[in-house]
Amino acid sequence: MLLLQRASVFPSDPTTAIIKVEKSHHPPQNQIPVGTNAAVKFISNCISLESNRESKLSVSLKWTSASGDTEFSSAFPPDVIIVGAGVAGSALAHTLGKDGRHVHVIERDLTEPDRIIGELLQPGGYLKLIELGLEDCVEQIDAQRVLGYALFKDGKNTILSYPLEKFPANVAGRSFYNGRFIQKMREKAAELLNVRMEQGNVTSLLEENGTVKGVQYRTKDGVEHKAYAPLTIVCDGCFSNLRQSLCQPKIEVPSCFVGLILENCQLPFANHGHVILADPSPILLYPISSTEVRCFVDLPGQKLPSIRNGEMSKYLKNIVAPQIPPELHDPFIYAIDRGNIRTMPNRSMPAYPLPTPGALLMGDAFNMRHPLTGGGVTVALSDIVLLRDLLRPFHNLNDAALLCKYLESFYILRKPVASTINTLAGALYKVFSASPDQARKQLRQACFDYLSLGGIFSNGPMALLSALNPHPSSLVLHFFAVAVYGVGCLLFPFPSFERIWIAAKLIWCASGIIFPIIKAEGVRQMFFAATFLAYYRAPLGRRSLLRRRGEISPQPKWL
Ligand SMILES: Cc1cc2nc3c(=O)[nH]c(=O)nc-3n(C[C@H](O)[C@H](O)[C@H](O)COP(=O)(O)OP(=O)(O)OC[C@H]3O[C@@H](n4cnc5c(N)ncnc54)[C@H](O)[C@@H]3O)c2cc1C
Repeated sequence: MLLLQRASVFPSDPTTAIIKVEKSHHPPQNQIPVGTNAAVKFISNCISLESNRESKLSVSLKWTSASGDTEFSSAFPPDVIIVGAGVAGSALAHTLGKDGRHVHVIERDLTEPDRIIGELLQPGGYLKLIELGLEDCVEQIDAQRVLGYALFKDGKNTILSYPLEKFPANVAGRSFYNGRFIQKMREKAAELLNVRMEQGNVTSLLEENGTVKGVQYRTKDGVEHKAYAPLTIVCDGCFSNLRQSLCQPKIEVPSCFVGLILENCQLPFANHGHVILADPSPILLYPISSTEVRCFVDLPGQKLPSIRNGEMSKYLKNIVAPQIPPELHDPFIYAIDRGNIRTMPNRSMPAYPLPTPGALLMGDAFNMRHPLTGGGVTVALSDIVLLRDLLRPFHNLNDAALLCKYLESFYILRKPVASTINTLAGALYKVFSASPDQARKQLRQACFDYLSLGGIFSNGPMALLSALNPHPSSLVLHFFAVAVYGVGCLLFPFPSFERIWIAAKLIWCASGIIFPIIKAEGVRQMFFAATFLAYYRAPLGRRSLLRRRGEISPQPKWL
């Protein structure tokens, strides 16, 4: 048992500090505000004292200088470098920092991001935030509770509630400004003494004999730096330029989202996401603050009408506006006229890792899916929980080859949850998109009618969508139940030759939608993860084996 120490810092001049050490049995980190002196104004000052394994005392200092920059000085080299402090990077930095790792985060831009992505967190993702101790990051940002979806088709609508009955009252989806959420997580991570956040643009990974040793980065003054750590985790998002050597990226861009903010309007169903099964593809609406509604119009393909020459406004007014619920029509037109129209490509990329000693990919850099179902943040948080649990027993990260072998289990263990969310997103996008094909039309109608049946027919799919029960087998079951329901509607009461033909094509279509996605995700990893040896390499896999054998009790359902 190591003796922990308490210390205080007294700044004497800009370059030195007097450190006074007292004995204490408190946790290894203390934040000690200090006063000011004539030479430099220390707004806050933090010190952490830690004993290393040889019982030598070491010091980490972190303070905010008069210019507002966070200064950092540590006797410890980082255990982990994290590239990018977006959703994944900032949550991961806090998580690993809380576990006592020394983390160096390098983020291109530490100011509040202004983006149109990652604004809706599914309830399953909120549960992951709780597991990570980050749930307060959706507080005081005017985040809105989301309790389910309203689905609109041809003037009809149906309400699909998340199956939240078995969960504590605070568990629900949340929607918010992405930048506010990220900034909260960054602040929380940066409060930890052993987490260093630095602004810099990572330009390359530093490799030696096939092992990643660190990164090269440029700070805003244009100076090139190198940072080294036993593990580098790349979380540089969907446009990642570092992923190439760590995975085999197969990126598809099936469509783009055109984003608008509708102001001072009420959605037809408060606290619900709204999905309009429009032509040519879905329109999405959800609140992002108490007065604003995010509207995403999906446009298939990658070629968009020009915003600059007014073609986009014309398209939105003539083709999209008539399909918007009447109560939102005027705010929609007003938002177009205000002119703040933004676009974003919707990328999808199954995870094909190339396990590399010393490095790991996370978040969108690693795996992407269509954003229709708002699953990206949930997958990233779920991966972080898994990685944290896997790394916990691994005190020393220095044996890169051993760690790399061990972390192969990460790629297997994440699959059932991540692939279910990914497959659902890809399949729903295709089913919800309009098509001139009769069988596709019937499938879309069958999906709307099936979900409208309520009970298990909406609860099952909503448990998948919300990531409260992301089970691959449940996904396949409900997907084909929709197809069979569609066939039933076609054949009863009077099957004609033409209807039998459309019914056969419907089954063919449904298979043609879901099977290629599952194949790309990996059938064995998704459905038979336990048949991989790597699955049992980690304590988590071994635990689930024991659970299956009944040797340990299952986790409470809501965890
Ligand atoms: C249009 C759209 C809407 C979406 N809506 C939702 C939604 O509602 N709900 C949901 O769950 N998911 C949604 N997603 C997906 C979600 O946004 C992502 O899954 C999530 O943001 C991934 O987090 P990340 O940390 O990997 O990437 P990001 O959050 O993008 O973070 C990447 C970070 O890396 C930094 N960075 C990049 N390159 C470098 C570099 N070279 N050096 C240093 N730093 C670097 C960037 O500045 C950024 O801060 C949406 C996606 C799209 C495209």
